[in-house]
Amino acid sequence: MIANMTALTITNIHKTYDNTPALRGVSFTVSKGETVVLLGPSGCGKSTLLEIIAGLTEPEQGTCAWNGESLMGVPAHKRGFGLMFQDYALFPHKNVRDNVAFGLKMAGWEAEKSKRRVAEVLELVGLPECGSRDVTTLSGGERQRVALARSLAPQPRLLMLDEPLGSLDRTLRERLMMELREILSQMGQTAIYVTHDQVEAFAVADRVVVLKAGTVAQTGTPQEIYQHPNSSFVARFLGLTNLLSGRARETLTGALVATDLGEWAVPQRVSGEVMVLLRPDQVHLAQESGHHLRGTLIKRSFSGNTYRVEVDVQGTALRFDFPASTPNIPQPGETIILSFNPQTALQVVGQLATF
Ligand code: ADP
Repeated sequence: MIANMTALTITNIHKTYDNTPALRGVSFTVSKGETVVLLGPSGCGKSTLLEIIAGLTEPEQGTCAWNGESLMGVPAHKRGFGLMFQDYALFPHKNVRDNVAFGLKMAGWEAEKSKRRVAEVLELVGLPECGSRDVTTLSGGERQRVALARSLAPQPRLLMLDEPLGSLDRTLRERLMMELREILSQMGQTAIYVTHDQVEAFAVADRVVVLKAGTVAQTGTPQEIYQHPNSSFVARFLGLTNLLSGRARETLTGALVATDLGEWAVPQRVSGEVMVLLRPDQVHLAQESGHHLRGTLIKRSFSGNTYRVEVDVQGTALRFDFPASTPNIPQPGETIILSFNPQTALQVVGQLATF
């Protein structure tokens, strides 16, 4: 990634359908060579945003600019952007080579140059020998790679991928996420990638824009967002569900937060009604002394690397993942004792007004 050379600037986009706002003041940027993932639940406005950037839909308010020049009024086919959708819409009656060459033909590429480019992108996506294969004979993963080759072939200055792995099974998706990231970064491709899947978002993103009901909830690298979710919405969306409401009182070194389950010192300086996150990765199984929470294990399930346990602590359900090698994990119905360092395990993720 080439840092800090802004390619795309999206400013204060508003879009309404039938009096219902789909986007409400969305702003973000994409740097040259960067992959930005738009992440959010279904209906939060991801596809509408892509359509606006592509030039297929007009916003009521706001602007899109490329290299500082406004794109407003520039028709879709003049923007030089590529789109790849979940249903790849490959032509079933054409072979792989002709599918990949289609956009080049439409753009008037000369035959010899087009042939070279097709060979180049098929090599890039790992299908150098497949040019004459009928697309109907390919596996789901191979079809996905052909679709990627087709969208990369015309060298779009921005590639937009809308849930490109959505229809594939989990194992294949996990493999292709890595490959996709590799290919995009190898090409220095500037890209926007849309998904509702946090794992996929973190695997492919340089930066993530989390959307909530047509607004930007948080922007940052995957690490920044996972380490410091800025609201209970983002925390929940990332699977960080151990959220406790409490009352904070500012101290010299941070705050004391009183919750139903106890009072702890946290490093953030806040006061008033707050939401605190108990990070599942910072909680350990304890024996007797020095414990912070005592509860009843409700459920435990084995998922290969970890045991996921659900614990009831005075009527609050909390979830943790322990490494599968952890000895003496209690059985359902038994008492479980948990220890954690409040300074690292507890994070204030929002004031009451922003829940
Ligand atoms: P996402 O891609 O995140 O699932 P969308 O952008 O498809 O979200 O939709 C955002 C909101 O706008 C939804 O409430 C959806 O129902 C609405 N919407 C999207 N497209 C249209 C349309 N063409 N007509 C009316 N409402 C639409």
